[in-house]
Amino acid sequence: MFGEENHLTSAIKNQLVLEFPSMAENVGVARVAVAAFAAQLDFSLDEIEDIKIAVSEAVTNAVVHGYRDRPGLVRVAAMLTSDELVVEVADRGKGIADVKKAQEPTFSTDPERLGLGLSFINSLMDKMELRSTPGQGTLVRMSKKPQQTASAAGKV
Ligand code: ATP
Ligand code: MG
Repeated sequence: MFGEENHLTSAIKNQLVLEFPSMAENVGVARVAVAAFAAQLDFSLDEIEDIKIAVSEAVTNAVVHGYRDRPGLVRVAAMLTSDELVVEVADRGKGIADVKKAQEPTFSTDPERLGLGLSFINSLMDKMELRSTPGQGTLVRMSKKPQQTASAAGKV
């Protein structure tokens, strides 16, 4: 699930890769790091907040579901093109049997949880893709473009 080494293509202007153990304390680290990285594009403060929530939800899922049975490493890769942020959150944990069902609002394998994290990511980001193999891990790929036009931002 960690994939091949991601070579910097010409479309990618900047890239950030974080790898950390599956501890709840690191959710906030990833959230803040990706938000600071994303600020290189013209995202509004609201959009930066959306990105923070989406990253937190994906990393929390890796920690609490992926590595429910044993600890492991979470890998967060953020990429910037000239007009888009792409974030990948990957774990090598237990994986998801049915990725379609997992994305249904209120579906959770944990009765203590609301089952809304993936739905939040879906609505807060422009695109979300979920790939998983049971026993091998999970990859969430999400992307977002700043909606604010240069003129609306008062820059033209
Ligand atoms: P909430 O996010 O509201 O606390 P939740 O985590 O159960 O609840 P989602 O984030 O929408 O809800 O995830 C839905 C289900 O998908 C989870 O209950 C879990 O079974 C599965 N899942 C999501 N991410 C992973 C992952 N990285 N590894 C294994 N299972 C996952
Ligand atoms: Mg969740």
